Amino acid sequence: RQQKKVDIEELFTKIRTKDRTALSQGITLIESSQPLHQEKAQQLIERCLPFSNNSIRIGITGVPGVGKSTFIEALGNILISHQKKVAVLAVDPSSSISGGSILGDKTRMETLVASPDAFIRPSPSGNSLGGVAQKTRESIILCEAAGFDTVIIETVGVGQSETAVHSMVDFFLLLKLAGAGDELQGIKRGIIEMADSIVINKADGDNKKRAREAKNQFKKALHLYPISHNGWLPQVLTCSALTNEGITDILELISSYIKITKTNGSFENKRIEQNKYWLLQTIEEQLKSSFFNHPGIKEILPKKIDALKRHEISPFAAAKALLTLHKNNTEKA
Ligand code: GDP
Repeated sequence: RQQKKVDIEELFTKIRTKDRTALSQGITLIESSQPLHQEKAQQLIERCLPFSNNSIRIGITGVPGVGKSTFIEALGNILISHQKKVAVLAVDPSSSISGGSILGDKTRMETLVASPDAFIRPSPSGNSLGGVAQKTRESIILCEAAGFDTVIIETVGVGQSETAVHSMVDFFLLLKLAGAGDELQGIKRGIIEMADSIVINKADGDNKKRAREAKNQFKKALHLYPISHNGWLPQVLTCSALTNEGITDILELISSYIKITKTNGSFENKRIEQNKYWLLQTIEEQLKSSFFNHPGIKEILPKKIDALKRHEISPFAAAKALLTLHKNNTEKA
Protein backbone atom coordinates (compact mmCIF):
# COMPACT_ATOMS: atom_id res chain seq x y z
CA ARG A 1 0.00 0.00 0.00
CA GLN A 2 2.73 2.37 1.01
CA GLN A 3 4.67 1.70 -2.19
CA LYS A 4 1.61 2.49 -4.30
CA LYS A 5 1.12 5.78 -2.53
CA VAL A 6 4.70 6.84 -3.18
CA ASP A 7 4.36 6.13 -6.90
CA ILE A 8 1.28 8.26 -7.22
CA GLU A 9 2.77 11.03 -5.08
CA GLU A 10 5.83 11.12 -7.27
CA LEU A 11 3.77 11.17 -10.44
CA PHE A 12 1.54 13.87 -9.02
CA THR A 13 4.52 16.05 -8.04
CA LYS A 14 5.98 15.70 -11.52
CA ILE A 15 2.65 16.53 -13.14
CA ARG A 16 2.49 19.67 -11.03
CA THR A 17 5.87 20.73 -12.39
CA LYS A 18 4.40 20.54 -15.93
CA ASP A 19 6.33 17.38 -16.74
CA ARG A 20 4.67 16.20 -19.95
CA THR A 21 6.07 12.69 -19.69
CA ALA A 22 4.52 12.31 -16.24
CA LEU A 23 1.26 13.69 -17.59
CA SER A 24 1.33 11.07 -20.35
CA GLN A 25 1.98 8.35 -17.79
CA GLY A 26 -0.91 9.56 -15.69
CA ILE A 27 -3.28 9.49 -18.65
CA THR A 28 -2.06 6.00 -19.54
CA LEU A 29 -3.12 4.91 -16.04
CA ILE A 30 -6.54 6.47 -16.61
CA GLU A 31 -6.88 4.66 -19.92
CA SER A 32 -5.81 1.28 -18.57
CA SER A 33 -8.53 -1.25 -17.87
CA GLN A 34 -6.49 -3.11 -15.24
CA PRO A 35 -8.11 -2.82 -11.81
CA LEU A 36 -4.81 -1.92 -10.11
CA HIS A 37 -4.14 0.85 -12.64
CA GLN A 38 -7.68 2.10 -12.27
CA GLU A 39 -7.26 2.29 -8.53
CA LYS A 40 -4.03 4.27 -8.93
CA ALA A 41 -5.63 6.47 -11.54
CA GLN A 42 -8.41 7.35 -9.12
CA GLN A 43 -5.84 8.27 -6.45
CA LEU A 44 -4.04 10.47 -8.94
CA ILE A 45 -7.25 12.17 -10.04
CA GLU A 46 -8.13 12.87 -6.39
CA ARG A 47 -4.72 14.47 -5.89
CA CYS A 48 -5.05 16.59 -9.03
CA LEU A 49 -8.64 17.65 -8.48
CA PRO A 50 -7.90 20.64 -6.18
CA PHE A 51 -5.61 22.03 -8.90
CA SER A 52 -8.07 21.58 -11.74
CA ASN A 53 -11.16 23.41 -12.96
CA ASN A 54 -9.05 26.41 -13.92
CA SER A 55 -8.76 26.13 -17.69
CA ILE A 56 -10.91 27.16 -20.59
CA ARG A 57 -12.25 24.05 -22.24
CA ILE A 58 -13.03 24.26 -25.93
CA GLY A 59 -14.77 21.53 -27.92
CA ILE A 60 -14.25 21.28 -31.67
CA THR A 61 -16.25 19.07 -33.98
CA GLY A 62 -16.64 18.63 -37.71
CA VAL A 63 -16.66 15.91 -40.32
CA PRO A 64 -13.37 14.30 -41.37
CA GLY A 65 -11.55 16.56 -43.80
CA VAL A 66 -13.18 19.80 -42.63
CA GLY A 67 -9.81 20.88 -41.24
CA LYS A 68 -9.98 20.17 -37.51
CA SER A 69 -6.30 19.33 -37.11
CA THR A 70 -5.19 22.29 -39.21
CA PHE A 71 -7.57 24.55 -37.31
CA ILE A 72 -6.43 23.35 -33.89
CA GLU A 73 -2.84 23.82 -34.96
CA ALA A 74 -3.58 27.41 -36.06
CA LEU A 75 -5.59 28.21 -32.94
CA GLY A 76 -3.05 26.54 -30.66
CA ASN A 77 -0.11 28.42 -32.11
CA ILE A 78 -1.79 31.77 -31.59
CA LEU A 79 -2.74 30.82 -28.03
CA ILE A 80 0.85 29.82 -27.31
CA SER A 81 2.08 33.11 -28.71
CA HIS A 82 -0.17 34.68 -26.06
CA GLN A 83 1.67 32.71 -23.37
CA LYS A 84 -1.09 30.12 -23.07
CA LYS A 85 -0.46 26.44 -22.45
CA VAL A 86 -2.54 24.25 -24.71
CA ALA A 87 -3.59 20.63 -24.23
CA VAL A 88 -5.36 18.83 -27.06
CA LEU A 89 -7.37 15.69 -26.30
CA ALA A 90 -9.72 13.71 -28.49
CA VAL A 91 -12.89 11.69 -28.19
CA ASP A 92 -13.26 9.18 -30.97
CA PRO A 93 -15.10 6.00 -30.00
CA SER A 94 -14.69 4.66 -33.53
CA SER A 95 -10.90 4.58 -33.31
CA SER A 96 -10.84 1.17 -31.67
CA ILE A 97 -12.94 -0.24 -34.47
CA SER A 98 -11.29 1.41 -37.45
CA GLY A 99 -7.80 1.13 -36.01
CA GLY A 100 -7.02 4.66 -37.13
CA SER A 101 -7.72 7.58 -34.91
CA ILE A 102 -8.12 11.28 -35.10
CA LEU A 103 -4.96 12.76 -33.68
CA GLY A 104 -3.46 9.31 -34.10
CA ASP A 105 -1.19 10.75 -36.68
CA LYS A 106 0.60 13.42 -34.71
CA THR A 107 2.34 14.85 -37.75
CA ARG A 108 -0.96 16.53 -38.50
CA MET A 109 -0.14 19.08 -35.79
CA GLU A 110 3.55 19.43 -36.44
CA THR A 111 4.32 22.73 -34.79
CA LEU A 112 2.09 22.09 -31.79
CA VAL A 113 3.65 18.69 -31.20
CA ALA A 114 7.08 20.33 -31.18
CA SER A 115 6.09 23.09 -28.78
CA PRO A 116 6.94 22.68 -25.08
CA ASP A 117 3.76 24.64 -24.31
CA ALA A 118 1.48 22.10 -25.95
CA PHE A 119 0.40 18.60 -25.04
CA ILE A 120 -1.35 16.40 -27.57
CA ARG A 121 -3.01 13.12 -26.81
CA PRO A 122 -4.96 10.92 -29.22
CA SER A 123 -8.33 9.46 -28.34
CA PRO A 124 -8.38 6.63 -25.82
CA SER A 125 -9.66 3.43 -27.33
CA GLY A 126 -12.66 1.62 -26.03
CA ASN A 127 -15.86 0.16 -27.26
CA SER A 128 -18.34 2.34 -25.48
CA LEU A 129 -18.61 6.05 -26.06
CA GLY A 130 -19.38 6.52 -22.38
CA GLY A 131 -16.13 4.85 -21.39
CA VAL A 132 -14.02 6.73 -23.93
CA ALA A 133 -15.57 10.05 -22.98
CA GLN A 134 -15.12 9.45 -19.27
CA LYS A 135 -11.42 8.76 -19.74
CA THR A 136 -11.05 12.01 -21.65
CA ARG A 137 -12.93 13.86 -18.98
CA GLU A 138 -10.63 12.50 -16.29
CA SER A 139 -7.62 13.37 -18.43
CA ILE A 140 -8.78 17.00 -18.48
CA ILE A 141 -8.28 17.09 -14.70
CA LEU A 142 -4.69 15.94 -15.06
CA CYS A 143 -3.96 18.42 -17.86
CA GLU A 144 -5.29 21.27 -15.74
CA ALA A 145 -3.24 20.20 -12.73
CA ALA A 146 -0.22 20.21 -15.05
CA GLY A 147 -0.85 23.88 -15.78
CA PHE A 148 -2.54 23.70 -19.16
CA ASP A 149 -4.88 26.68 -19.14
CA THR A 150 -6.54 25.89 -22.45
CA VAL A 151 -7.87 22.42 -23.13
CA ILE A 152 -9.11 21.66 -26.62
CA ILE A 153 -11.22 18.53 -27.12
CA GLU A 154 -11.53 17.32 -30.68
CA THR A 155 -14.20 14.96 -31.90
CA VAL A 156 -15.43 13.71 -35.24
CA GLY A 157 -18.76 14.92 -36.49
CA VAL A 158 -20.30 11.49 -36.68
CA GLY A 159 -22.29 9.55 -34.15
CA GLN A 160 -23.10 10.66 -30.64
CA SER A 161 -19.66 11.85 -29.63
CA GLU A 162 -20.62 15.53 -29.96
CA THR A 163 -23.05 15.25 -27.09
CA ALA A 164 -20.36 13.72 -24.90
CA VAL A 165 -17.85 16.43 -25.77
CA HIS A 166 -20.42 19.19 -25.42
CA SER A 167 -20.97 17.99 -21.86
CA MET A 168 -17.30 18.49 -20.94
CA VAL A 169 -16.48 21.86 -22.48
CA ASP A 170 -17.25 25.52 -21.86
CA PHE A 171 -17.38 26.50 -25.50
CA PHE A 172 -18.45 24.24 -28.34
CA LEU A 173 -17.41 25.05 -31.87
CA LEU A 174 -18.74 23.43 -35.01
CA LEU A 175 -16.49 23.52 -38.08
CA LYS A 176 -18.23 23.48 -41.46
CA LEU A 177 -17.39 23.81 -45.12
CA ALA A 178 -19.17 25.96 -47.64
CA GLY A 179 -21.15 23.49 -49.70
CA ALA A 180 -23.05 23.56 -52.94
CA GLY A 181 -25.75 25.93 -51.81
CA ASP A 182 -28.12 24.47 -49.32
CA GLU A 183 -25.87 24.62 -46.29
CA LEU A 184 -28.40 23.37 -43.83
CA GLN A 185 -28.92 20.09 -45.60
CA GLY A 186 -27.40 17.18 -43.83
CA ILE A 187 -26.69 19.02 -40.64
CA LYS A 188 -28.13 17.52 -37.54
CA ARG A 189 -30.44 19.90 -35.77
CA GLY A 190 -29.16 18.86 -32.37
CA ILE A 191 -25.65 19.91 -33.26
CA ILE A 192 -26.69 23.40 -34.29
CA GLU A 193 -28.40 23.72 -30.95
CA MET A 194 -25.25 22.71 -29.12
CA ALA A 195 -22.90 25.00 -31.02
CA ASP A 196 -21.75 28.25 -29.40
CA SER A 197 -20.21 29.10 -32.72
CA ILE A 198 -20.31 27.78 -36.26
CA VAL A 199 -17.12 28.44 -38.19
CA ILE A 200 -16.92 27.97 -41.95
CA ASN A 201 -13.37 26.83 -42.63
CA LYS A 202 -11.37 26.94 -45.86
CA ALA A 203 -12.61 30.45 -46.58
CA ASP A 204 -9.67 31.13 -48.86
CA GLY A 205 -8.99 31.51 -52.59
CA ASP A 206 -11.98 30.75 -54.79
CA ASN A 207 -13.88 29.53 -51.80
CA LYS A 208 -14.18 32.91 -50.08
CA LYS A 209 -17.41 33.99 -51.71
CA ARG A 210 -19.15 30.68 -51.07
CA ALA A 211 -18.00 30.76 -47.46
CA ARG A 212 -19.56 34.19 -47.02
CA GLU A 213 -22.84 32.93 -48.50
CA ALA A 214 -22.80 29.91 -46.23
CA LYS A 215 -22.18 32.17 -43.27
CA ASN A 216 -25.30 34.19 -44.09
CA GLN A 217 -27.42 31.05 -44.43
CA PHE A 218 -26.29 29.75 -41.07
CA LYS A 219 -26.85 33.11 -39.47
CA LYS A 220 -30.42 33.20 -40.72
CA ALA A 221 -31.02 29.65 -39.54
CA LEU A 222 -29.64 30.39 -36.08
CA HIS A 223 -31.97 33.29 -35.64
CA LEU A 224 -34.83 30.82 -35.77
CA TYR A 225 -33.62 29.36 -32.51
CA PRO A 226 -34.45 31.02 -29.21
CA ILE A 227 -31.59 32.75 -27.44
CA SER A 228 -29.87 30.35 -25.10
CA HIS A 229 -30.63 30.68 -21.38
CA ASN A 230 -27.05 31.82 -20.79
CA GLY A 231 -27.73 34.92 -22.86
CA TRP A 232 -25.47 33.92 -25.72
CA LEU A 233 -26.51 34.04 -29.36
CA PRO A 234 -24.34 31.59 -31.31
CA GLN A 235 -22.13 33.37 -33.81
CA VAL A 236 -21.18 32.37 -37.33
CA LEU A 237 -17.68 33.18 -38.57
CA THR A 238 -15.47 32.23 -41.49
CA CYS A 239 -11.79 31.41 -41.38
CA SER A 240 -8.93 29.80 -43.16
CA ALA A 241 -6.97 27.46 -40.96
CA LEU A 242 -4.42 27.32 -43.76
CA THR A 243 -3.69 31.06 -44.00
CA ASN A 244 -4.75 31.91 -40.42
CA GLU A 245 -7.22 34.49 -41.69
CA GLY A 246 -10.06 34.88 -39.18
CA ILE A 247 -8.47 32.75 -36.46
CA THR A 248 -7.82 35.71 -34.16
CA ASP A 249 -11.48 36.73 -34.49
CA ILE A 250 -12.48 33.28 -33.29
CA LEU A 251 -10.25 33.60 -30.23
CA GLU A 252 -11.77 36.99 -29.49
CA LEU A 253 -15.23 35.51 -29.81
CA ILE A 254 -14.36 32.77 -27.34
CA SER A 255 -12.92 35.36 -24.95
CA SER A 256 -16.08 37.43 -25.08
CA TYR A 257 -18.19 34.32 -24.50
CA ILE A 258 -16.15 33.45 -21.43
CA LYS A 259 -16.38 37.01 -20.16
CA ILE A 260 -20.16 37.23 -20.62
CA THR A 261 -20.91 33.83 -19.11
CA LYS A 262 -18.53 34.32 -16.20
CA THR A 263 -20.18 37.66 -15.45
CA ASN A 264 -23.74 36.35 -15.53
CA GLY A 265 -22.86 33.17 -13.64
CA SER A 266 -23.76 30.72 -16.37
CA PHE A 267 -20.15 29.62 -16.82
CA GLU A 268 -19.99 28.23 -13.30
CA ASN A 269 -23.55 26.89 -13.53
CA LYS A 270 -22.76 24.98 -16.68
CA ARG A 271 -19.78 23.31 -15.02
CA ILE A 272 -21.90 22.31 -12.04
CA GLU A 273 -24.53 20.87 -14.38
CA GLN A 274 -21.81 19.04 -16.27
CA ASN A 275 -20.44 17.55 -13.05
CA LYS A 276 -23.91 16.42 -12.14
CA TYR A 277 -24.32 14.84 -15.55
CA TRP A 278 -21.00 13.00 -15.18
CA LEU A 279 -21.86 11.76 -11.73
CA LEU A 280 -25.07 10.22 -13.03
CA GLN A 281 -23.38 9.02 -16.19
CA THR A 282 -20.66 7.27 -14.19
CA ILE A 283 -23.19 5.53 -11.97
CA GLU A 284 -25.10 4.39 -15.02
CA GLU A 285 -21.97 3.07 -16.74
CA GLN A 286 -20.76 1.26 -13.63
CA LEU A 287 -24.12 -0.28 -12.85
CA LYS A 288 -24.44 -1.49 -16.40
CA SER A 289 -20.97 -2.90 -16.49
CA SER A 290 -21.36 -4.55 -13.08
CA PHE A 291 -24.59 -6.11 -14.27
CA PHE A 292 -23.59 -7.32 -17.72
CA ASN A 293 -20.13 -8.53 -16.66
CA HIS A 294 -21.53 -10.54 -13.79
CA PRO A 295 -20.81 -14.27 -14.38
CA GLY A 296 -24.28 -15.32 -13.20
CA ILE A 297 -25.96 -12.80 -15.49
CA LYS A 298 -23.77 -13.82 -18.41
CA GLU A 299 -24.96 -17.36 -17.92
CA ILE A 300 -28.65 -16.75 -17.28
CA LEU A 301 -29.35 -13.83 -19.64
CA PRO A 302 -29.16 -15.95 -22.85
CA LYS A 303 -31.44 -18.51 -21.24
CA LYS A 304 -34.01 -15.88 -20.37
CA ILE A 305 -33.83 -14.58 -23.93
CA ASP A 306 -34.54 -18.09 -25.19
CA ALA A 307 -37.48 -18.38 -22.81
CA LEU A 308 -38.67 -15.03 -24.12
CA LYS A 309 -38.55 -16.30 -27.69
CA ARG A 310 -40.63 -19.29 -26.68
CA HIS A 311 -43.13 -16.92 -25.03
CA GLU A 312 -42.58 -18.64 -21.71
CA ILE A 313 -41.79 -15.44 -19.88
CA SER A 314 -42.54 -11.76 -20.28
CA PRO A 315 -39.65 -9.29 -20.79
CA PHE A 316 -40.54 -7.67 -17.46
CA ALA A 317 -40.54 -10.87 -15.48
CA ALA A 318 -37.25 -11.87 -17.10
CA ALA A 319 -35.72 -8.51 -16.24
CA LYS A 320 -36.95 -8.75 -12.69
CA ALA A 321 -35.51 -12.23 -12.26
CA LEU A 322 -32.12 -11.12 -13.60
CA LEU A 323 -32.03 -7.96 -11.49
CA THR A 324 -32.89 -9.97 -8.39
CA LEU A 325 -30.18 -12.48 -9.20
CA HIS A 326 -27.64 -9.66 -9.60
CA LYS A 327 -28.78 -7.93 -6.43
CA ASN A 328 -28.59 -11.08 -4.32
CA ASN A 329 -25.19 -12.00 -5.67
CA THR A 330 -23.67 -8.56 -5.17
CA GLU A 331 -25.07 -8.37 -1.64
CA LYS A 332 -23.41 -11.68 -0.85
CA ALA A 333 -20.09 -10.53 -2.28
P1 GDP B 1 -9.61 16.96 -40.23
O1 GDP B 1 -9.82 15.60 -40.80
O2 GDP B 1 -10.91 17.63 -39.94
O3 GDP B 1 -8.68 16.99 -39.07
O4 GDP B 1 -8.94 17.84 -41.40
P2 GDP B 1 -7.41 18.22 -41.63
O5 GDP B 1 -6.98 19.29 -40.73
O6 GDP B 1 -6.59 16.99 -41.69
O7 GDP B 1 -7.51 18.88 -43.08
C1 GDP B 1 -7.97 18.16 -44.23
C2 GDP B 1 -7.38 18.79 -45.48
O8 GDP B 1 -7.90 20.11 -45.64
C3 GDP B 1 -5.87 18.95 -45.43
O9 GDP B 1 -5.34 18.66 -46.71
C4 GDP B 1 -5.66 20.41 -45.07
O10 GDP B 1 -4.45 20.92 -45.58
C5 GDP B 1 -6.85 21.06 -45.74
N1 GDP B 1 -7.26 22.30 -45.06
C6 GDP B 1 -7.48 22.45 -43.73
N2 GDP B 1 -7.84 23.72 -43.44
C7 GDP B 1 -7.84 24.39 -44.62
C8 GDP B 1 -8.14 25.74 -44.99
O11 GDP B 1 -8.48 26.61 -44.18
N3 GDP B 1 -8.07 26.03 -46.33
C9 GDP B 1 -7.72 25.12 -47.26
N4 GDP B 1 -7.67 25.50 -48.52
N5 GDP B 1 -7.43 23.85 -46.95
C10 GDP B 1 -7.48 23.47 -45.65
